[in-house]
Amino acid sequence: MDADVIVIGAGVAGLVTADRLAAAGRRVLVLEARDRVGGRTLTVPVPGFPGHVVDQGGQWAGPGQDLLYKELARFGLETYPQQYGGGAALVLFRGRARRYTGRIPKLDPLTLADVGQTQLRFDRLARTVDLAAPWRTPRAGELDGQTFESWLRRVCWTERGRDFFRTACEAVFATVPANLSLLHALFYAASGTSLEHLITTTGGAQQDRVAAGMGTLAVRLAAQLGDRIRLDSPVRAITQDADGVRVRTDDAEFAASRVVVAVPPTLAGRIAYRPAMPPRRDQLTQRVPHGGIIKCHAVYAEPFWRADGLSAECASDRGPVKVAFDATPPGEGSPGILLAFLDGPESLRLGELPYEQRREEVLRSLARYVGPQAMDAVAFLERDWNAEEWTRGCYGAHLPPGAWTQVGAALREPVGRLHWAGTETAERWCGYIDGAISSGERAAAEILAA
Ligand SMILES: Cc1cc2nc3c(=O)[nH]c(=O)nc-3n(C[C@H](O)[C@H](O)[C@H](O)COP(=O)(O)OP(=O)(O)OC[C@H]3O[C@@H](n4cnc5c(N)ncnc54)[C@H](O)[C@@H]3O)c2cc1C
Repeated sequence: MDADVIVIGAGVAGLVTADRLAAAGRRVLVLEARDRVGGRTLTVPVPGFPGHVVDQGGQWAGPGQDLLYKELARFGLETYPQQYGGGAALVLFRGRARRYTGRIPKLDPLTLADVGQTQLRFDRLARTVDLAAPWRTPRAGELDGQTFESWLRRVCWTERGRDFFRTACEAVFATVPANLSLLHALFYAASGTSLEHLITTTGGAQQDRVAAGMGTLAVRLAAQLGDRIRLDSPVRAITQDADGVRVRTDDAEFAASRVVVAVPPTLAGRIAYRPAMPPRRDQLTQRVPHGGIIKCHAVYAEPFWRADGLSAECASDRGPVKVAFDATPPGEGSPGILLAFLDGPESLRLGELPYEQRREEVLRSLARYVGPQAMDAVAFLERDWNAEEWTRGCYGAHLPPGAWTQVGAALREPVGRLHWAGTETAERWCGYIDGAISSGERAAAEILAA
């Protein structure tokens, strides 16, 4: 045996799995397809501003993500508030820009009332979801038999109200509500406290950033594991029998007693298994598509929008940039940085444009929010997660109608000697880094108990 346990994937989930197993005295080997660790987290330097970084993948932590804060503290990684620069947020709906402070976006009174009543009904339903087994939720069949979009059309009175939720849905799920099972939307919101919590900065999921970059967490976890991690090792096939498991990469084969597959379910479905996966598990991996994200950073000599009283937290019903934030690092000599998300189906269209054209569209979109100075970026960074072979879209998986109730039970259920980790398997904070950590802890506990 090359190891007691092989962990596939060195994202946060796989690294936490390996970390906990190593701490319990198990011999672990981590096989990672990329030439780096961290998966959907990645911190990169800002060109022209030495010592400053941005996160091209997951970046925020917020209240309720206790495991994430604990893990950050373990490595001495400090956080600072997203809103440290102060200023007003901005909504640009139907071409009209309005500034606001506090949690409630400034929309016209009728739209606001509609958003309020819809949110109340959504929250009431979300509270009924069984997080451990969404398919056992009361009226699961009915909730899973419709899309979030069809529910919005029935429950939300106004087109403006529906557009508010469509924008929120794209910001949270990186896809349009027509692609989501209502049960999935409810599960995901409840898993991360509430839909409002998921779209809120201060007091919500976008509250804090990591000074050294969120991607540093994976790098620190990996440093503990040392040469137990093998990079550039995409796993192609897994064979299991009564004696153990054999895992094949392009150039080697490894044997272990058990395996933890810590990759998103749609990528897990691209590995060849012998014997073949049970039908329910295989059909699950056919029904867990990813959303779409290109994450862009426009860099300026200084955060000029602050002088105008803006926080650069912006949302609009019109793209291409429907959501933007201030990504200015703290500290002296720091550049001003705007973070722009291109999300949902639009990210596929924009991904097909030449770089210059995409940059132009993004900057023009930002100028609508913070003024024409946005056109004068001194640097522009982008990461198209849709084009990353070992991620294939973001932020993560969403389940279409029928998937939770028909095949959802296979999401975490071990298959012989194979166990499943990854944020998509988490009950709490599914889709988030905190969920990746809890999934790794759960998978490690399963192995130790087996
Ligand atoms: C742009 C963006 C913004 C985000 N923002 C936030 C945020 O602000 N806060 C937050 O909490 N979350 C955020 N997320 C989500 C968060 O990053 C993820 O939930 C989390 O990182 C997932 O970790 P994971 O280990 O489950 O999966 P991954 O990070 O996807 O790790 C899986 C690993 O497996 C590897 N792999 C895949 N297939 C194979 C194979 N066949 N063989 C070997 N290795 C393989 C991959 O290369 C990868 O390293 C964001 C994600 C993105 C992309």
